[in-house]
Amino acid sequence: MSPFENAIQQLENAAKILNLDANKFEIIKKPDRVIQVKVPVKMDDGSFKVFDGYRVQFNNLRGPYKGGLRFYPSVDLDEVKALAFWMAIKCAVVNIPMGGGKGGITIDPKLLSKAELEKLTRSFTRAIAPVIGSQVDVPAPDIYTTPEIMSWIVDEYTRVTGKEDLAVVTGKPLDKGGSKGRDRATAMGGFYVLEQVIQKTLNKSKSEIKIAIQGFGNAGSVMADLLVAGGYKVVAVSDSQGGILNMDGLDIEQVKLTKQAKGSVIEYVSGQKITNEQLLEVEVDILIPAALENQITEKNAHNIKAKVLLELANGPTNPAADKLLFEAGKVVVPDVLANAGGVTVSYFEWQQNLDDKYWEEADVFAKLEQIMTSSLDAVWSKAQEHNIDLRTAAFVLAVSRIADKLDLH
Ligand code: GLU
Repeated sequence: MSPFENAIQQLENAAKILNLDANKFEIIKKPDRVIQVKVPVKMDDGSFKVFDGYRVQFNNLRGPYKGGLRFYPSVDLDEVKALAFWMAIKCAVVNIPMGGGKGGITIDPKLLSKAELEKLTRSFTRAIAPVIGSQVDVPAPDIYTTPEIMSWIVDEYTRVTGKEDLAVVTGKPLDKGGSKGRDRATAMGGFYVLEQVIQKTLNKSKSEIKIAIQGFGNAGSVMADLLVAGGYKVVAVSDSQGGILNMDGLDIEQVKLTKQAKGSVIEYVSGQKITNEQLLEVEVDILIPAALENQITEKNAHNIKAKVLLELANGPTNPAADKLLFEAGKVVVPDVLANAGGVTVSYFEWQQNLDDKYWEEADVFAKLEQIMTSSLDAVWSKAQEHNIDLRTAAFVLAVSRIADKLDLH
């Protein structure tokens, strides 16, 4: 099933538990607006290439559309729709006043020069400028997009609209209106949630707890750091080229240096090489998918050894796998809760820009911790109340909050 089909299945599961009004269901399951744009770029060799760009505004019932931009070869409309829908759910799970949106360009930015990347970003910004804005739709980073890319968006948006609107995107560099802590927020939020879940589910000391992480981007690599600093054992990590495994624990500092110097974690010498698929099935206590969608399906769910799965990626587990994992007694902490730290600190950044008052990092993380742990408590009790998995529980909470804002008159 495609990511959007998965997303709608998840919505249906929650709608059943909620006894959601059929009219509300029909309205909630479709995006408000789907925008497809062409993104022409003059390449360094003088030729023009025209890329496909998207922005999906799923719903703004709870606040401005909010969600990242992904520059990735497999981006397509179905994926962006799913990601936009998950943003609406995510913001409602952590109860921040934002709706759901997402965007992207079908491209491999690794093949572009820096000048081409900047031109691509500016061209895309011109195309979506009429439909974004701090009170309308607020993009942010996602896979392969960075704070610097966000600063180009602000600059180009200001240039074409003539409006100074710093809060038009979040995830900006610190000296360009960014928030302290935004760069580590996704992993940090996941870490706060994970520590609570560990207390509820695993009867082991920290140093005995083995963890595997699929993906070594902003979310996965920062998570690896936090876990090692917290006294846990990270035994496997991977990136797009493959993974490495050492059951005695990886030296994450060395892994990071290796990736910086040689382009991939697989060049790290004190570990055994494994594939991304093998990583999911390693004998660990906790598995953290932090890469792409549809990694855990009915094909491999029964091979997963971990008791706890924490989804830092969006959409890594499909509904068929969810069912198998729940029946096997596994605890899947869903993306819409586990990785919501990123958008939560984006919301803090947006507030800081609008108030023109900037917070200390300690305040950002204290507020983030409070939101993440109270959201986990709410989702956990919902799951117990109905004897359902945590994803369905998170959707039940979120969909009821969104549906409450729908006026059918
Ligand atoms: N791309 C991130 C996500 O999937 C962050 C979105 C944001 O900060 O708006 O949640």
